[in-house]
Order: sequence, then structure tokens, then C-alpha cells
Amino acid sequence: MVLATGNRGKMKEIQEILGGLVELVAYEGELPEETGSTYRENAYIKAWAAHKATGLPAVADDSGLEVDALGGRPGIHSSRFMGLTTDQERCKKLLELLEGVPWEQRTARFRCVVCFVDQSGEATFFEGTVEGYVALQPKGDNGFGYDPVFYYPPLDKHFAELPADVKNNCSHRAIAFRKLKEFLADRREFA
Ligand code: IMP
Repeated sequence: MVLATGNRGKMKEIQEILGGLVELVAYEGELPEETGSTYRENAYIKAWAAHKATGLPAVADDSGLEVDALGGRPGIHSSRFMGLTTDQERCKKLLELLEGVPWEQRTARFRCVVCFVDQSGEATFFEGTVEGYVALQPKGDNGFGYDPVFYYPPLDKHFAELPADVKNNCSHRAIAFRKLKEFLADRREFA
């Protein structure tokens, strides 16, 4: 199965979630621009491109952080939030925008949508979300993106404080890819 992602780090994470069920290969071709207006569309654009180019079943994901006090922003624009170029700047901007917003209104979630395109070109979607809060201060050095400012109540930690294996077990991506795993396990060609 081809994984269509520009992010090399995801390959290992996703292969670990899928276990020995399927072997992932990285899609080496150019990926089209993510011009969709939903996670679903963007995941589909990437998975379909990889399937079309290789003839193999393909998978892609799209994700982002949704902050309730900002009406769900940055959402699908998470990686290019307000034109800022580094994760650090984006985290800082988010904290500025939420200055004075009380804790109970700082609710947020990471959402991930996975698109699987099978051998015949049929697409199926899987979704994972993880609920938390935009913290008052950044904390932790692990992870990427908004991890330093995302407080995860079940472990009483910011995502960036978690070791990779712990985060990769409870993340929105883990939840969505585990659903893909169950789906594939039920299909004869992958059993
Ligand atoms: P992608 O679709 O997985 O590339 O994610 C798009 C953007 O959402 C990333 O550039 C991050 O800003 C944000 N994001 C997605 N997943 C995570 C995560 O697990 N931690 C922190 N930020 C994330």
C-alpha cells in the first residue's frame, strides 16, 4: 500500500499502527496541491494521486487543530496559519489570539481524516479526534506543530511532554489509522 505524504516521519508512525498487516511504501512522486476545503477532500486528493500513479492501493491523511473559541480555526489551514512559517510562531500566535479567554472556553481538538483508495479506485474515509484545551503557556519539547500548546486532560500533560510512543498511541492519527486497520483486517485481500 502506498502512503502519500510529504512527511517522512509519518511513515514510521503509521507503519507501527498498522503493524504487520500491510507493508507501506512511500509515494515518491509529486503530490498535488491540497486545494480542498475539507480534510476529506485534501486526503482524497493525495491518496487518489498516489493510486493513479502507481496502480496500488493508497492511503493519505489530512489533519489539523480546531479551536472552539476561534470558530474551529485554524482547522485545515493549521500548517499555514496566518501565513506564519514556523511551528513556534504559530503556537505563539494562537496563545495571543486566546489571551484573556477563560480555561473552560479554550476547548480544542485535533482531527485527522484518513482516505484509503483501494485497488479498484474506491475511496473509504476514517476519522479520529482527540479532545483537549489550548494551554495558557507552551510546555514540552517533543512532537511538532501545536503539540506544546495542546493540553491533553486524560494524561494531565501537554502533547509535547509525551514520549513519541505514548502520543502515537492516543493521537487523532492513531485513532483514524486504527479504524483503517480494522477495515483492512476485515477485507479478504489483506487478511
Ligand atoms: P497534516 O495534515 O498531518 O500535515 O497536519 C497539518 C497541520 O496540522 C500540521 O502542520 C500541524 O500544524 C497540525 N497538526 C496535525 N497533527 C498534529 C499533531 O499531532 N500535533 C501538532 N500539530 C498537528
